[in-house]
Amino acid sequence: MHKYDSHNRYKLIYKIVSALNVSLQIILLFIIFSLEMSWYLYLIGLFIAYFLTDFINGLVHMYMDNNDNYNSIWGPFIASFHLHHKTQMYKNANIFIIYFNESGAKFWLVPYLLVVLLFWALEINSFVLLIFIYIGILSSVAEVSHFLCHNSNSKFIKKLQKYRILLPLSHHKNHHKYDNQSYAFLNGTSDFIIDKIAKKLYRGYKNGSDEHFEKYDGSGTENRD
Ligand SMILES: [Zn+2]
Ligand SMILES: [Zn+2]
Repeated sequence: MHKYDSHNRYKLIYKIVSALNVSLQIILLFIIFSLEMSWYLYLIGLFIAYFLTDFINGLVHMYMDNNDNYNSIWGPFIASFHLHHKTQMYKNANIFIIYFNESGAKFWLVPYLLVVLLFWALEINSFVLLIFIYIGILSSVAEVSHFLCHNSNSKFIKKLQKYRILLPLSHHKNHHKYDNQSYAFLNGTSDFIIDKIAKKLYRGYKNGSDEHFEKYDGSGTENRD
């Protein structure tokens, strides 16, 4: 984990990933507007994509939380990812900055967005393409939703959380309190499936990846097993 602390190049990599993700999302947003479809198809697509985004990002989160491959080249990124279990409040910033910064840890999203762009070039079915694009953009929105869940006191945001447009803290706090559950973080509606998958696949990260964390005292030194 000290690798992450001491090397600014890791921070630079996050910035590059953010820049790639956000630029690809902007291009895809323009493509959404160019798809000529009835308004209700835009809306139905959004509903489907909302649930799928919550589910897919929840699965990635589950995989990452249970991944303790610290000695691989991804090690420092995996270790820094696990820090979120210790954080109950994040540094406040403009919502667009949060959107940009939080997109930096989403390495998988860059190839995903490139493939969606390829689908557009191949002129696949517009409705299917729309869902893929929504998922690509909502995956970053999910990070903002998680941030707001911990940081916002705004009445408007609380309303959105109440109606499950964003992630409510009452639902999400299980993830920080208990082991191996409530991984979804766009609005948490897919947790009922993810919880079942997690139970089947993992014995819980508090015995694995978080154990490593306990040995890290923040001073840049750590005791490896
Ligand atoms: Zn987690
Ligand atoms: Zn959280």
